[in-house]
Amino acid sequence: MAILIVAEHDNTALKPATLNTLTAAAAIAEHTTDNDLHLLIIGAKCQSVVDDAQDITGLSQILLADDPVYQSPLAENIAPLIVFLAQAEGRTRYSHILTSASTAGKDYQPRVAALLDVAQISDIISIESADTFKRPIYAGNAIATVQSSDDIKVISVRSSAFALTPLTANTEVPVIDIEAQADSGKSVFINAELTLSPRPELTTARVIIAGGRGMKNAENFSLLDTLADNLNGAVGASRAAVDAGFAANDLQIGQTGKIVAPDLYIAVGISGAIQHIAGITGSKVIVAINNDPDAPIFDVADYGLVADLFDVLPALTAALKA
Ligand code: FAD
Repeated sequence: MAILIVAEHDNTALKPATLNTLTAAAAIAEHTTDNDLHLLIIGAKCQSVVDDAQDITGLSQILLADDPVYQSPLAENIAPLIVFLAQAEGRTRYSHILTSASTAGKDYQPRVAALLDVAQISDIISIESADTFKRPIYAGNAIATVQSSDDIKVISVRSSAFALTPLTANTEVPVIDIEAQADSGKSVFINAELTLSPRPELTTARVIIAGGRGMKNAENFSLLDTLADNLNGAVGASRAAVDAGFAANDLQIGQTGKIVAPDLYIAVGISGAIQHIAGITGSKVIVAINNDPDAPIFDVADYGLVADLFDVLPALTAALKA
């Protein structure tokens, strides 16, 4: 049996989260005898994603399901294909099926587990053995060790907990074409409104400047953009800032937002509620700017500045420009 990794992509390029998931898969493979890694690419007109995947170290096979039915990542269409592959010709082909715990992965992977009648193992952060994994619970306040006795382990992987699998240019991994399954007809893609930004993606950014309710309004929030541009960073937000309409929904960091792990995380006007901290504990250095010396964010910050953010931000931006 092999290990199946479902690629994360946008039909144009492979997303880095796939490389984090592959590192987790390779760690599982070290605990098993059958350790082939198969990458499954499900999409439409996605040859450029296959080209990206050819550069990945350690893959033994690329499975490609390229069909208009997969133009949009609808879980109702993706899950049956994965299940079909997992049990092709009446036998179990994969010991583990891994995907990133991204929005898409969180959408289809539970369906895969349900259709296979096995437990889903969510958001793992470490591999103890081929059947035992660690995952955060209670917004990261406790770490559970879970062991699965299912034949197929259906897993989602927290990207920030695993390094990127290195790339080796021009490998020649065989590509196997997979026939598409029929459209489930259970859901229809209508529209996607995406925030287009030249800045790095939050989950892979090395520097993040995040703002909270302390920013007061959307106009002030844009002060963070200038700072981020000077640091080649991404802009994030607390849930309170998103709920108040200061920032777009996809900028939310935390338990119900994105989990980030930058080298430098600067929290501006964010109190440090546990649900926010749950998303930033993987950061290497945390800097907090808050005018309340008792704000809980200072408990996790490596550097703290008790000051008015409206004094600090312009001064910091000017200093960086200089
Ligand atoms: P506040 O708590 O209001 O803090 C604002 C901070 O700004 C204060 O510390 C204040 O001192 C400071 N400030 C104000 N003015 C200035 C100034 N001029 N200069 C400097 N500092 C200033 N939250 C998340 O962020 N992400 C999540 O994913 C998330 N998920 C949740 C899930 C659940 C189930 C629940 C119940 C809550 C969740 N929350 C989440 C909400 C969380 O509990 C907090 O309400 C939220 O994080 C608070 O956001 P904030 O720090 O921006 O706002």
